Amino acid sequence: MKIKSAEFIISNSEVAKCPKDMLPEYAFIGRSNVGKSSLINMLTNQKNLAKTSGKPGKTQLINHFLINKNWFLVDLPGYGYARVSKSTKKIFQKFITNYFEKRKQLVCAFVLVDCRHEPQKIDTEFMEWLGVNQIPFNIIFTKADKLKPQALKRNISKYQEILLETWEECPQHFITSSSDYRGKEELLNYIEEINQS
Ligand code: GDP
Repeated sequence: MKIKSAEFIISNSEVAKCPKDMLPEYAFIGRSNVGKSSLINMLTNQKNLAKTSGKPGKTQLINHFLINKNWFLVDLPGYGYARVSKSTKKIFQKFITNYFEKRKQLVCAFVLVDCRHEPQKIDTEFMEWLGVNQIPFNIIFTKADKLKPQALKRNISKYQEILLETWEECPQHFITSSSDYRGKEELLNYIEEINQS
């Protein structure tokens, strides 16, 4: 898929205030600093559509971007930011779970994990929650340029082993790098195929 246009539409913390259009939408979520903003900018050919920052936890809103005037890319808040208070974490969780439970336009979520890290409980627990709630999701392993192919393979296998302890099948995964554009076409083509089906 070629990205012809990418426009910021609205940011908010209430699902009720998200766009009313019935366009298909795809949500991107992951721990703070996982590379989500960089990935969104890479996918949409923009430098600053999503805010990249050294300070984790800055994007704490649901951000809707209209792509090619026919689907929404949704940038969800980063979870697991250690420096916010427990009560703030709870509120985040509530509005994130609200989004997943209520947003009918959601086609699937992409859960981003940093390919360099061992599987983290917060990520696998979140995936479990999505699975239990029957919310379709795929995994995106980010920052692939930072690992040699063997190490990348090993880390992906570790994730799959953990998921297979609970599920019969693993979700589909994508490998991306915002530095060398790896995974860009594959991911956009995947979304295009679903949109056309
Ligand atoms: P976010 O908090 O998930 O939105 O993460 P950002 O996109 O702001 O990225 C966090 C940090 O990781 C920044 O310093 C980015 O430059 C860096 N980063 C993000 N994606 C990549 C990538 O694919 N490769 C490399 N090498 N660094 C990346």
